[in-house]
Amino acid sequence: MTDQMARAAVRTTRANVLLASAGERGVLCDFYSETAADIYQDIMGDGDKDGSPEAGEYATHIRPEAGPVLELAAGTGRLTFPLLDLGLEVTALELSAAMLGGLQKRLAEAPTEIQKRCTVVHGDMSAFSLDTLFGTVMISSGSINVLDDADRPGVYASVRDHLAPEGRFLLGVAISEAVEQDAVERQQELPGRSGRRYVLHARQSPTEEIHEITIYPADETAAPFLVCTNRVRLLKQDQVVRELEQAGFDVIARTPFSSPGAEGVLLLEAVVRG
Ligand code: SAM
Repeated sequence: MTDQMARAAVRTTRANVLLASAGERGVLCDFYSETAADIYQDIMGDGDKDGSPEAGEYATHIRPEAGPVLELAAGTGRLTFPLLDLGLEVTALELSAAMLGGLQKRLAEAPTEIQKRCTVVHGDMSAFSLDTLFGTVMISSGSINVLDDADRPGVYASVRDHLAPEGRFLLGVAISEAVEQDAVERQQELPGRSGRRYVLHARQSPTEEIHEITIYPADETAAPFLVCTNRVRLLKQDQVVRELEQAGFDVIARTPFSSPGAEGVLLLEAVVRG
């Protein structure tokens, strides 16, 4: 598998400053890429935070009789495994070879009965073609907005082509808090499991409609000095609803998640019009 995420690394404003002072030691990489895999693993460990409450919320809108579930941008399986634990048949699609490797490692350690209900696909959610129709296609909050304006229509078109009759598209959108108009920057230290320490720098700019993160070793003399970045768009629910409608979907429900551990997400439920 090629590391398609490597080409996607974004030069955040913080990365620019860091790379300028690191000179030849500086290496820019996407936080989800193979190059950043050791740092991701050191900070996040084998699993992300427990996705069971969030997966449980999605599951209440999944009708297994309509067909299997396709989860887009599945990451290392934070939601995939709780969904499998609920007895669902899940195809997990993910672009990053490093994330997919983490998911496959967890799957290899799972009971055979779970393995049989999970299909793993290395693919781009903005342009995929699979042989199966799905009763549910879902994408977690924080994943649709990794794509820019030019790539999101590709997701909607691909999803439309893969929904079974009566199928549902479940799309999580972060419920936007009242944000200030000026760019806000925050910085905190993150401990790694190895004992190494990292800095997480976050910058949110409502006018540019972006939230960018930069993660790098607290020891700025490290060689190589890996500067890991990621940028998401601050997408508002109304914009996503508009995009879905333009892409031929009807949004039939908007449900805020309420279980403890899953708050802050609005679930958009969409069907293909007509
Ligand atoms: N859905 C997982 C969860 O909720 O824990 C992962 C969410 S993480 C915020 C976003 C994921 O999107 C990353 O794993 C990243 O590699 C993946 N990703 C980014 N661009 C993608 C694309 N074009 N197609 C598929 N996955 C992509």
